[in-house]
Amino acid sequence: MRNLWSSAEAAAFPGDLGQRVYSSRLLGRDPSLVLHGGGNTSVKTVERNVFGEEERVLRVKGSGWDLATIEARGFSPCRLAHLTRLAALEELPDLRMAQELRACMTDPSAPTASVEAILHAVLPARFVDHTHADALISVTNTDGGLERVREIYGERVVVIPYVMPGFKLARLFAELFPKHCTPATEGIVLMNHGMITFGSSAEESYGRMIALVTEAEEYLARRGAWGVAPAPLEAGPRPGRQDIAAFRKALSAGLGAAALVSSNRDDTCLAFARRPDLARLSQQAPATPDHVIRTKRVPLLGRDLAAFRDGYRRYFDAWADRSSPRPAMVDAAPRVVLDPEWGMLAVGRTAQEASIVGEIYRHTIDIVLRSERLGGWRGLAEEHIFDVEYWDLEQAKVRRPGPRPVFQGEVALVTGAASGIGRACVDSLLSRGAAVVGLDLNPDVAGILPGPAYLGIECDLTKEDQVGAALDRAVAAFGGLDILILNAGIFPGGMKIGELGTDLWRKVMGVNLDASFVMLRECHPLLRLAPLGGRVAVIGSKNVPAPGPGAAAYSASKAAVNQLMRVAALEWGPDNIRINALHPNMVFDTALWTTEVLESRARHYGLSVEAYKTNNLLKVEVHSRDVAELAAELCGPLFAKTTGAQVPVDGGNERVV
Ligand code: ZN
Repeated sequence: MRNLWSSAEAAAFPGDLGQRVYSSRLLGRDPSLVLHGGGNTSVKTVERNVFGEEERVLRVKGSGWDLATIEARGFSPCRLAHLTRLAALEELPDLRMAQELRACMTDPSAPTASVEAILHAVLPARFVDHTHADALISVTNTDGGLERVREIYGERVVVIPYVMPGFKLARLFAELFPKHCTPATEGIVLMNHGMITFGSSAEESYGRMIALVTEAEEYLARRGAWGVAPAPLEAGPRPGRQDIAAFRKALSAGLGAAALVSSNRDDTCLAFARRPDLARLSQQAPATPDHVIRTKRVPLLGRDLAAFRDGYRRYFDAWADRSSPRPAMVDAAPRVVLDPEWGMLAVGRTAQEASIVGEIYRHTIDIVLRSERLGGWRGLAEEHIFDVEYWDLEQAKVRRPGPRPVFQGEVALVTGAASGIGRACVDSLLSRGAAVVGLDLNPDVAGILPGPAYLGIECDLTKEDQVGAALDRAVAAFGGLDILILNAGIFPGGMKIGELGTDLWRKVMGVNLDASFVMLRECHPLLRLAPLGGRVAVIGSKNVPAPGPGAAAYSASKAAVNQLMRVAALEWGPDNIRINALHPNMVFDTALWTTEVLESRARHYGLSVEAYKTNNLLKVEVHSRDVAELAAELCGPLFAKTTGAQVPVDGGNERVV
């Protein structure tokens, strides 16, 4: 593990808090030290309050911040004296502790301090760094872990036995650390949890962390337990789209809400899922308490879905049966599923969550394999998992969920997503919580938005093999398909029938009609497996009810797609799939409306371009966003009982009204 400290870089971060920001980001840069919001750091400073008095303040990482990207305002300012007094209490329920952490802040608008804030407070050093380093966890979670820690570090670390993070850990730490700390102490090993280092400067504390974790890495390497990458293997055929979508539907039913499922079929995941001792390794507990909360436990999955459903029910019942005075968890579904052919499936209520779960489990695989090589993987003891899963603070999250976006846990696909109405649909669906797949002939579609909730795929919709491949990728990324927005289309400039060549006619039909038909046919098996029912919005045109001269191919193709929509509504109702069309008109911020087309149409109606743009009953301009918002709403609860409908979005058109 490399020490990334650079004096030149550090100089750009003035003051204690600046130094704290800089070295926290260095820790955050290495996912083998901290993953997504894991780990925490602090600095003790003196700040002046409103009375002009100096106060000792602990600036500690606030919840919701990630060390890799943290800023000064991500450190919650807590009165140090208050925190150290809390550590002296005999008992403090975790919910009360969370209240106290907010109550002792000098700025009520700051984020809530990390649950490990009290521990940071009682450690008498200016800078404190805490990570859940993979290498250390591999050592502590191996048979004879404590002796191994002693063998590596001797008396240079204080060892704290495992207790649940939160007040209990802070209390135990406050009791044990002063007893065992010596001038030689460089760090603290929290068994089955992580490493703490400290120092009078950010550089010293960070340097100790890197040095101590490197020693654990070298210890593993000396025993042939470091490099655990599998030999290249035969991945086998990709699982069927419908199989994955059916699995997602069953899983969502267990969760009581739609969930996303991302497939991980690289060598590491497949090799792990194919190990003959997988049951023993994966059914033990996760690596650290942080991992418990985010990955839950891991059910195994056979290819046979009926067997899975059965196994899943057993898993669910096992939790419900546990003799505990506390209520059963609402959210007891698995977060990770392992299958010899499917690899590792990561489950999340959002794309972000599924991606974090997947990444945590990849690190867990490395940790487990290293521990196995070293002397035998030992996860957290069963009763500890129970404690963490039922932890008051976790329960509080389950009991008090925030407002839930309407499409959370659902997957939407938009054709023609790179620009215009399609691009606007991507935004409207993302803002409602959906994970969105955008298809377009334009390769720019891949980069219009960052992940993990958006996946852009270059695709020629007139090529069936490309459509199939795009759907495979969509299902591998998110687990299925709930919402389809059929938007892609072309409009060749104004041309009378007498001038229209057969090739151009066929090209327009190929894109606007044939490709829509193929997309509907290929998406149908997925849409019928949507946990909450499938929904399709077809972007039609005013030309369907009111065709215009000079647009024969366009009008005919859109009318045919409209008829296709009506037939689909008739056929797919029993599958709980709704399909509706919206008919926009005069949406000028799209690629169809080149300046030439705009001027030609305006001339045709004897209007200026400006008058032409608002030539409707309401005298309003219609924008891509207006169309996209209506498309999203057509797929939402407002239209839950509507199918086969056609809704204009055109500012009011005399020929349509
Ligand atoms: Zn921790």
